Amino acid sequence: MSGYQPTLDPILRVIYSLTMLKAVFPGSFDPPTLGHLNIIDRAASVFDELFVVVAENRQKKYLFSVEERLEMMKEIVKSGKNIRCTSWDSLIVDFMKKENVRLIIRGIRGMDDFSHEFEISMMNKALYPHIETLFMTTDSRYIVLRSSSIKELASFHGDVSNMVPPVVAAALEKKFFGKKFFAVLT
Ligand code: ADP
Repeated sequence: MSGYQPTLDPILRVIYSLTMLKAVFPGSFDPPTLGHLNIIDRAASVFDELFVVVAENRQKKYLFSVEERLEMMKEIVKSGKNIRCTSWDSLIVDFMKKENVRLIIRGIRGMDDFSHEFEISMMNKALYPHIETLFMTTDSRYIVLRSSSIKELASFHGDVSNMVPPVVAAALEKKFFGKKFFAVLT
């Protein structure tokens, strides 16, 4: 055997990347909730590849650092073979261009979400006309789940065990009531 043999013809590789149905699901995920997880599960069952993109926006104040949010997300979706988790600190459209993805998934809990998401989708389309935003309605079990309310509840020692995966419940507990965050993942 001499030299390196690519496993996939470069032309086929391009065709493959064009025909694979890929989507991104971006968010703050501060922290990830069962509502997010439900959207991720359903989207991963529809698309060949799903990128879960943990946003790092310098204008926003987060409870968890981007590394912590990404680590939690990776732990939560680790059984999903076609799910890739990453972080991104710039416009999501730039991530999509880089990865050659046209579809963006957003979760909708009601009309408030919709009007906000509608404007964002218009903005994204203005930046990058090839982008399509797909709205997925929440599962009715998770309609009231919101990261901000969960953080508030957890800060008062409220029970969040039916709102977030166990690793997130443990991370919230550690964040508000002591001990090091990464200890909960080990
Ligand atoms: P943002 O990206 O606006 O900071 P989040 O990180 O909270 O907001 O949410 C990321 C995406 O998940 C958004 O599209 C949001 O509407 C959706 N989402 C959040 N909570 C739920 C839920 N309980 N059910 C369905 N979708 C949700």
